[in-house]
Amino acid sequence: TIGPGILVATIIIFLHALMYKGMNIIGQYDSDLPTQLWIIANYIQASAFLVGAIFVNRKYNYKITMTSFLIVGVTFTTLAFARVFPSCFIEGEGLTLFKIISEYLIIFIYLLAIYVLNKKRVYIGNSFTKSIIYAIAFFIVGELFFTLYIDVFGINNFLGHIFRLFGFIIIYNVMIVKTVNAPLDTIFTNLSLKVEETKNAEENLKLAQSIAKVGSWELMLDTQIMWASEEAFKIYEIERISDFIDISIIQSMVDQKDREILNHALKDLVQFDKPYNVTFKMDTASGKVKYINSRATLKFDQENNPIKVVGAIHDITELKEKELKLESLAYSDFLTGIHNRRRIFEDLDKSWRLCIREKFAISFVMIDIDDFKSYNDNFGHIIGDKALIDIANEIKSSLSRPFDDVGRIGGEEFLVLLPKTNFESAIKIAEKIRKSVIDLKIKSCDKCDNDFLTISLGVCTVTPTNEIAYEKVINCADEALFEAKNDGKNTVKGKQYC
Ligand code: GH3
Ligand code: MG
Ligand code: MG
Repeated sequence: TIGPGILVATIIIFLHALMYKGMNIIGQYDSDLPTQLWIIANYIQASAFLVGAIFVNRKYNYKITMTSFLIVGVTFTTLAFARVFPSCFIEGEGLTLFKIISEYLIIFIYLLAIYVLNKKRVYIGNSFTKSIIYAIAFFIVGELFFTLYIDVFGINNFLGHIFRLFGFIIIYNVMIVKTVNAPLDTIFTNLSLKVEETKNAEENLKLAQSIAKVGSWELMLDTQIMWASEEAFKIYEIERISDFIDISIIQSMVDQKDREILNHALKDLVQFDKPYNVTFKMDTASGKVKYINSRATLKFDQENNPIKVVGAIHDITELKEKELKLESLAYSDFLTGIHNRRRIFEDLDKSWRLCIREKFAISFVMIDIDDFKSYNDNFGHIIGDKALIDIANEIKSSLSRPFDDVGRIGGEEFLVLLPKTNFESAIKIAEKIRKSVIDLKIKSCDKCDNDFLTISLGVCTVTPTNEIAYEKVINCADEALFEAKNDGKNTVKGKQYC
């Protein structure tokens, strides 16, 4: 910007010189016109420095700048020649107020340019800014002498021109010599600033990821190469040899059950752009169990073909452990620790639907401790509680298959679920439970030698359908239990629901 500005200003100065009294080249004008041209040129030159300083770190278009300065220069020069520009010099009287004020104004514009340049020195580089500021300082001193101008041949005028010359020498040195010899200086200053900014942004991102326990990753769909952030490596506890991570290593750490869910979700994302948001359990190298929430999105190329998956993993182990603890608290019986009523009925619901789907039989066993009221009366509630806990755990450990389940559904009442179990097997299991409780040998009275706490059991088996409500089958097991109680207790009674 300074270049075109100075060029236009210099052309006008040249015109100004041609007009001069002493030059006698174009003699028909008085001393006013050259002074006016001088002022116009200096306004343009000072403005060039100011505009240049303001736009120093922005995009710059040479053609537009040059054209703008030319238009301004030609317009004002024409105004001066047409004698409509304010008078600067009146023969006999000397300089006009306009001219003197203009010189001060020009000084002010220069000062403003120095101020802006100084603020933006980081973009330009220190030595470059300094040189331009020195040049402007010389121009300012030059202007100060011109404010004292009286005569074309006066000493002030001479000194003014000398200072201007110094200014130009510096500008020449900076603009021509320095920019030709060391043009990369300013570029490198900008570049290193950008590199610094990028580095800072990267550092901040790394810190944020580490604080939030969030890692990021990218999977190239063509090569299957996966890039992962430092935090992602930390979360997976994989040694970071390069920025790339082997997917098979991650998959081998993921819990068997979750591996399929993970693969499925990725397939759905890549093929159908379905939202990817999965939580999986994994065993890390240190043997620690971790829970990871993984979310991802697809990136497409210009032809709208998916090219990569960009995702984030979040280590939610702490949160998940708390959730599991709360869940287990909500689902376990506070006294005995076995499943509570809510849990056993939720499991019942699942098992019931599974058996409908698979057309399996399911058996319910209703259990009630015999004469427990008198046991409590005899030994007190604390001992009563202890007996309850022992019996509950004994029933639980009598069940061997993974789907079998027991819950405490009332004071000293238990419900056993035996999915995929027919009537005969259910009776056998009930019998086994009855015997194992006797084997606990919990003495039911103080004095007698052999009387132990016993239980009564009612079994009901059904092959469930959508038309049967399971409550009816529970009632059926209740009825069988009632029969057992009536039949002298410590016994198993059962029926098939039909
Ligand atoms: P039955 O053989 O007919 O079942 O006689 P029972 O005395 O066991 O009668 P019932 O099943 O109606 O008795 C329930 C008793 O169980 C009442 C109460 O004293 C005892 N009980 C219920 N819940 C608890 C408990 O949480 N702790 C203790 N210690 N006792 C309980
Ligand atoms: Mg009872
Ligand atoms: Mg009872």
